[in-house]
Amino acid sequence: MEKTKASTSARAQTLSAVVTLAVTAGVGYLVYRNGETWLRSSLLYLSRMKLARRMVTRFPPAWAVASRFVAGESVDEAIAAARQLNAKGMLVTLDYLGESITAATEASAARDQILYLLQRIHASGVDAYVSVKLSQLGLTIDENLAIGNLRALLTEAKALGLRVRIDMEESALVDRTLDIYRRLRFGEGFENVGVVIQSSLYRSEADVRKLVEEGAWVRLVKGAYKEPPDLAYPQKAGVDAAFVRLAELLLAPEAGARGVYLAVATHDDAMIAAVQRYAAAHNLARDAFEFQMLYGIRREWQEQLVAQGYRVRIYVPYGTAWYPYFMRRLAERPANLWFFVSNFFRA
Ligand SMILES: Cc1cc2nc3c(=O)[nH]c(=O)nc-3n(C[C@H](O)[C@H](O)[C@H](O)COP(=O)(O)OP(=O)(O)OC[C@H]3O[C@@H](n4cnc5c(N)ncnc54)[C@H](O)[C@@H]3O)c2cc1C
Repeated sequence: MEKTKASTSARAQTLSAVVTLAVTAGVGYLVYRNGETWLRSSLLYLSRMKLARRMVTRFPPAWAVASRFVAGESVDEAIAAARQLNAKGMLVTLDYLGESITAATEASAARDQILYLLQRIHASGVDAYVSVKLSQLGLTIDENLAIGNLRALLTEAKALGLRVRIDMEESALVDRTLDIYRRLRFGEGFENVGVVIQSSLYRSEADVRKLVEEGAWVRLVKGAYKEPPDLAYPQKAGVDAAFVRLAELLLAPEAGARGVYLAVATHDDAMIAAVQRYAAAHNLARDAFEFQMLYGIRREWQEQLVAQGYRVRIYVPYGTAWYPYFMRRLAERPANLWFFVSNFFRA
């Protein structure tokens, strides 16, 4: 019996290795033929596919790789990660993973989990705030559902002295996200809410100019979604140049005077250096803005920036719905994909 089990498991392992080898060779050939942009697009496409999600999340070695970017599946693990980062002099954003839900009950469940997270942050005393996605709170089902859920989170956060940042999702949701942000920020007086702007989108300069006038609390990112060339810069050079331009608008002394507070969210040395140069040239204090990076990415840089006296905040995702977040991280750096594939062999 034992012998049969062992040989079945050996056969399964061999089959898995052969399939993985074939997939790797196939992907390698396609990358060779079509280039890395093709690979990025494919990974972003797969991040939205339910079948791919089921296949990847049911395969234990996938979690071994994903756990490099995700703090854990429970709130306890998230709070523990936040505490460790705080001990290294870093601030934290906690993100309960989940997006693009399809039922109102899922949106209410996410809201309740985040309400609990806010209470745990407060009770544990970790220095953290929370990020949310409006699609996780029901935006793609019913706008009022998302607004109601966000209002509940902001009310609780306000009572506990905490903040909530609305992450930015794909371009189709940008208008509605900014409208909801303004409605709650100005219509309902929630000063503890902030937004995110993506430098990849052409529209972002106009959005930033308006947010500067409004004295907003803004995180600037390059943008993690695949967008068509009529809406977004198709090449990295365009996205990077826009990132520097927008960072300068948001860091300008006039913006500071209006109450703008910028989070420069990137792992890119060139972007960080450009912001440091601008800040030095305009005598900005090192705590007049902050750098943000993702959990598990460029840890040595995170520590160096803290040592240089900058404010650094780490975005710490947790929860069981880690698949699309993980796939976007693979797409950003295809080298991570090879790390992922090599774990298949080790499993
Ligand atoms: C705190 C934070 C919050 C974010 N919030 C949002 C959001 O709300 N909406 C949104 O669309 N996007 C968000 N993003 C993602 C962002 O849009 C980019 O996709 C991501 O940051 C990669 O771009 P980059 O600026 O690091 O530069 P890139 O040019 O992509 O990378 C520069 C260098 O950073 C390193 N690097 C970058 N990504 C990885 C990775 N995954 N693994 C290992 N190394 C890597 C590599 O060395 C790379 O050469 C967020 C990013 C951060 C840091």
